[in-house]
Amino acid sequence: MRFDRILADHRPSISFEFFPPKTDEAAEALYASAASLEALGPSFVSVTYGAGGSTRERTRDLVLRLRRETSLTTVPHLTCVGSTRDEIGEVLQTYAEGGIENVLALRGDPPGAGRFETTPGGFGYAGDLVAFIRKHFPTLGIGVAGYPEGHPETTDKLADIDHLKAKVDAGADVVITQLFFDNRDFYDFVERCELAGIRVPIVAGIMPIQSISGVKRMAGLSGARLPAPLLRALKRAGEDAQAVASVGAHWATEQCRDLLDRRVRGLHFYTLNKSAATRRIYESLGIKHSGELRA
Ligand code: FAD
Repeated sequence: MRFDRILADHRPSISFEFFPPKTDEAAEALYASAASLEALGPSFVSVTYGAGGSTRERTRDLVLRLRRETSLTTVPHLTCVGSTRDEIGEVLQTYAEGGIENVLALRGDPPGAGRFETTPGGFGYAGDLVAFIRKHFPTLGIGVAGYPEGHPETTDKLADIDHLKAKVDAGADVVITQLFFDNRDFYDFVERCELAGIRVPIVAGIMPIQSISGVKRMAGLSGARLPAPLLRALKRAGEDAQAVASVGAHWATEQCRDLLDRRVRGLHFYTLNKSAATRRIYESLGIKHSGELRA
């Protein structure tokens, strides 16, 4: 099902994000998580796209395997890093032939901490990729990334929203946000999008904290602010890994409850390939299946 129909029929949509596993063992663990999360009835699952060649093949393989072996609607991420238009066109062709109906179109980040450089014959911004997909693969649904706290490279927040508007005007059907820990940042972002004339659904990115090292890495990468009450609770949990995971699940549950009460269009869970935290949030929300949120 394409994004536009998913978002029209599923209010709210619920989605889970995976990354391609690096080893056979990790792959089997991921399929177990995916099977466990399938029972929760997500609207779609997405698979991230890395910078290197073998990572890309793993994304493609995982996406096509999930599509073949599960009932999940599977959405590959696709970035502009290190690829020409022709190479990106080939990847899209493989997806179209494999029955994939949507992609998440991103500029991407280079490996390491370097700055993004446009590949000769490639795309400089996600908006250019969106326009290319719309032109050459008109039946594909397209999602793009949004940043409630602003994208770290563009300090001018007004310009950042203008760039998001350009992606939507180029043909995106949905915006999925970067993770955030303070819902006020999301609500303000949604309002600013409305003021800028962005009319497509905006889906909230939720990352239940599962470990201290994980949150440090993700907050560093995304630039997400950790509110003081959350930091305080994590400090209390200290070295106790289970207590940290409980704090993370509780905080994410409260974020979800508040977002659902305010009729958010969708929740996108950064699962980190594990199912426990997401299942715990469902339990705390009092549901066994995503459909119950739409009852
Ligand atoms: P863009 O929309 O192109 O924006 C990049 C920067 O350029 C922004 O600062 C923007 O304001 C600015 N900009 C945009 N257009 C213009 C213009 N015309 N002129 C001047 N400036 C402009 N990364 C991966 O590598 N793989 C993944 O699978 C992946 N999945 C993600 C999923 C989600 C939901 C999110 C939120 C992010 C994901 N990322 C992923 C991270 C993303 O690739 C990075 O944040 C990257 O730095 C920006 O990508 P973008 O698509 O937002 O780029």
